[in-house]
Amino acid sequence: MKIFNTLTGRKEEFVPLEPGKVKMYVCGPTVYNLIHIGNARPMIVFDTVRRYLEYKGYEVNFVSNFTDVDDKIIKKAAEEGVDSAVISRRYIEECRKDMEAMNVKPATVHPKATEEIDGMLELIQTLIAKGHAYAAADGTVYFRTGSFKDYGKLSHKNLDELQSGFREIKVTGEEGKEDPSDFVLWKPKKEGEPYWESPWCQGRPGWHIECSAMSRKYLGEQIDIHGGGEDLIFPHHENEIAQSEAASGKEFARYWMHNGFLNIDNKKMSKSLGNFFTVREIGEKFDLQVLRFFMLSAHYRSPLNFSADLMESSKNGLERILNGIERLRELRERAGQSAASREEEKLCQAVGELRAKYEAAMEDDFNTADAVSAVFEVVKLANSTADQDSSREYTEYLIETLETLCGILGIITRRRKETLDEEVEKLIARRQQARKAKDFALADQIRGQLSSMGIILEDTREGVKWKRA
Ligand code: AMP
Ligand code: ZN
Repeated sequence: MKIFNTLTGRKEEFVPLEPGKVKMYVCGPTVYNLIHIGNARPMIVFDTVRRYLEYKGYEVNFVSNFTDVDDKIIKKAAEEGVDSAVISRRYIEECRKDMEAMNVKPATVHPKATEEIDGMLELIQTLIAKGHAYAAADGTVYFRTGSFKDYGKLSHKNLDELQSGFREIKVTGEEGKEDPSDFVLWKPKKEGEPYWESPWCQGRPGWHIECSAMSRKYLGEQIDIHGGGEDLIFPHHENEIAQSEAASGKEFARYWMHNGFLNIDNKKMSKSLGNFFTVREIGEKFDLQVLRFFMLSAHYRSPLNFSADLMESSKNGLERILNGIERLRELRERAGQSAASREEEKLCQAVGELRAKYEAAMEDDFNTADAVSAVFEVVKLANSTADQDSSREYTEYLIETLETLCGILGIITRRRKETLDEEVEKLIARRQQARKAKDFALADQIRGQLSSMGIILEDTREGVKWKRA
């Protein structure tokens, strides 16, 4: 399996630090607003990377943070006249809902910056002790970039150029810096801001130290894959490398993966241009499965243009796949227990080759665009070869293949309504059983559960009927 590594600028064979295991860290959102569709791209991309690694049999430890202390959160809290924890808690909840709607699996751990201050303080202390950081007179702690010889290796920038580039820029409040390219690890509190005690001053952490500390705590000093959007390469990820490697003396992350940007109508997405969509807004017009499918129709490193037309064509494409699977399920219902014919065995082989094509695409730096094409080819083959005369074995093989290949992409192959209906039917059957067993408490409890799902039951002579409220 090959991964494009931003660090080396090449595709490299993936070799995990420990056989069979993958440690992965992906920078998560700053929670001061509903997430936008740009934020959704790394979520969907890295969730798919994770799913493919799991499909390959790796045990994946996937850590993704929530940045819940930040200027934007503090500003929003001041506007609403509430505590900044109220804002971050609210938007973490909303973000989790959006993730679920996009079928993005929750991470193994979702650490929050405000709950990890101890780890950050410890890391800063280590950096100071090793001469890689210093406290200025006002209590601000800076990382001494000049002390880390590899500074610039990820973004392929040269420290001398960086230093001369920064030289002209004087930032008020940062007079205590030894060098303009040094960056903040800890800063003093301002009036009305959340703060924590530290050996240097009451204050709060800089953004970069969060990820280094959380990654170290949950995954150890060395990890396999670190991911995020390409805007994070510099300075965020460059600074994470400096902090983590200066502290441990070891290589921090083996593979650095960055997704390209999502643009709208070929323009950079920005609030001021008015071309800005939240995931929630898109969810009002489309099933968010369509958004997911749309994102995966391109290679993750390419820039991706979002438009209503492109979403419509993704919707049609996804429909074609789901309809194909639905038709196969109906055929399976009707096919007896028959085994594949000679002819079908050959077709199974052709399906197997398409599956191999899909895998080859995913092995080549997660080329989901080509993987999606292979799925379409399987559907096309199924549409032209499976009918009421097909054996159960053949239809089952097609269904199993499509379910697996869609599952890796995080595409739910059962329509939501269908899944819901099934769930309702199951609950009704359990209620009937409970009634038969004279367990009326349980039967009532199930009726209550159904009613909270908006399902109304009617006991009729022909049995239990149900409808949506
Ligand atoms: P932020 O909340 O700004 O720190 O962003 C969270 C994640 O979303 C980071 O990995 C960013 O790189 C990514 N991101 C933000 N905007 C876009 C965009 N327009 N396209 C792709 N990724 C983005
Ligand atoms: Zn980060």
